[in-house]
Amino acid sequence: MANCNDQTGNETTGLSNQLNDYCQMIESEVIIIGGGPAGSTCAWKLKQHNIKTIILDKKTFPRLKLCAGWITPKVIKDLQFKIEEYPHSFLIFNKLYFHFYGRKFPIKTRQYSIRRYEFDHWLVQRAGVPLYHHTANQIHKANDRYIIDDKFRCKYLVGAGGTNCPVYRTFFKEINPRVRDSLITTMEEEFVYNYHDKNCYLWFFDNNFPGYSWYVPKANGYLNVGIGGKFSVLKDKKTTIKEHWNLFVRKLNKYGLVVNYSFQPRGCNYYLHQKMKVSQLDNLFIIGDSAGLATIDMGEGIGSAIKSGILAAKAIINKNIYCPDLVTKYSFINILFPWWTK
Ligand SMILES: Cc1cc2nc3c(=O)[nH]c(=O)nc-3n(C[C@H](O)[C@H](O)[C@H](O)COP(=O)(O)OP(=O)(O)OC[C@H]3O[C@@H](n4cnc5c(N)ncnc54)[C@H](O)[C@@H]3O)c2cc1C
Repeated sequence: MANCNDQTGNETTGLSNQLNDYCQMIESEVIIIGGGPAGSTCAWKLKQHNIKTIILDKKTFPRLKLCAGWITPKVIKDLQFKIEEYPHSFLIFNKLYFHFYGRKFPIKTRQYSIRRYEFDHWLVQRAGVPLYHHTANQIHKANDRYIIDDKFRCKYLVGAGGTNCPVYRTFFKEINPRVRDSLITTMEEEFVYNYHDKNCYLWFFDNNFPGYSWYVPKANGYLNVGIGGKFSVLKDKKTTIKEHWNLFVRKLNKYGLVVNYSFQPRGCNYYLHQKMKVSQLDNLFIIGDSAGLATIDMGEGIGSAIKSGILAAKAIINKNIYCPDLVTKYSFINILFPWWTK
């Protein structure tokens, strides 16, 4: 709790009540809204530099996050951990099987799969900062502090609340409207499945779908399958993601990859990397999906979330400018040359 006392001694005046409310607020140098990979990584970096930080998240962890859970060597490098240290499901792929218009291209690489349910929980625990279960709604600035729902206040506020982040909505939306063409719509399901094929498959542009579908096995008997593509193109073609999902399920069945399973997929939208005019305003920052940073070619957003979290933390620590333009915009080059990770 904020450590301050009402100096007036008069509990009944409006001013006194306001002061009292102010004193009741939880104060931190930095508040991060959202404990996904972007927020937890930013908190982890700040904590390493002894900067008082808290995270607010509307969900309790571990929480469900729709995601294929494919991560790259760069994610591991940026998070500075050894694979042996990771305590949960972790699978290594030495090849990815790309399919373009029905033709198969096995590509030698080194990539990984995790389960977001476990990975995000681990990251937020590893950050080692207090995590409050709170849905952030109203944010305003008073003097040089940001006030969140009249309950929390801070000097630096980091928006890591994903696509609908309230920091983006309140402060950045008008100056940085998102580009319709960058919106990706998805359907996916992660489930326990006794899969026989341990490979990772990606199918691009099947049935003129403006995106790709995936089959990503996980350790400990989990499988993630899904489909994600450009919303605007689907709309212009008067087709839906659901129609393409149905075709995809038929394909999984035809190739014997998933048989006799009754799917209950879920959908979720997010934005690909777009030119941001502003991602820092005074002591306000947006990172990860809140800033719309997933790669343009593959919609890879975990790595971008982590990198932007580190960049924002460094800007706070060193009191310099946050520049998310340094976040990788394309995945393909890193898949072809996984050892060449900056
Ligand atoms: C179907 C699908 C598959 C994907 N597959 C991959 C993949 O395989 N590899 C990859 O790299 N990327 C993938 N992505 C993209 C990736 O999931 C995201 O880019 C990544 O999760 C972004 O991380 P983040 O921390 O910015 O946001 P999130 O992970 O979305 O975390 C945001 C957090 O903010 C919290 N929050 C939101 N609003 C509030 C609020 N008002 N108050 C408090 N808390 C709030 C949420 O509860 C959440 O915990 C996929 C995305 C989808 C939809």
